[in-house]
Amino acid sequence: MAVPPHELARRLQQFKDACRQAGVKLTHQRMEIFREVAQTGDHPDAETIYRGVRERIPTMSLDTVYRTLWLLSDLGLITTLGPPRERTRFDANLSRHHHFVCVRCGVTLDFYSEAFDELKLPQSVMALGHVETTHVEVRGVCQRCASKKQAKPRTSRKKETKSWLRN
Ligand SMILES: [Zn+2]
Ligand SMILES: [Zn+2]
Repeated sequence: MAVPPHELARRLQQFKDACRQAGVKLTHQRMEIFREVAQTGDHPDAETIYRGVRERIPTMSLDTVYRTLWLLSDLGLITTLGPPRERTRFDANLSRHHHFVCVRCGVTLDFYSEAFDELKLPQSVMALGHVETTHVEVRGVCQRCASKKQAKPRTSRKKETKSWLRN
């Protein structure tokens, strides 16, 4: 799922500004790795990003991709989805948004909702720790998967609210 050109341009500009502010050198490799994350709405994992970048920079190593992704993540220039997992997915959309996750293919798509941005958390969450951001994850079957099989797509969609504690 490609991001529209104006949105990609906006993300690249935001990235350049953020690098300058953070005092991070804007190398060609970093730029291309960020571009790979930014140009898709799919929230790719590191290996997918690596395969994409290698088409433009054949000398790129997977190790460099990992190190760069975690550097950008540490600097807040990209975010990761959820708590650390085996295959972390990366997100270049720094605007406030929420996720639709396909339970069949795992694709993660962005959506926006002012109502969700203002979700009031139950008191029980506050007891768990200091909340910094709230993000709603909707799980279901994406349109691509739903149209693939003759089998009826599952209709029960579970909505979960998760708050990631970041520092
Ligand atoms: Zn799917
Ligand atoms: Zn996202």
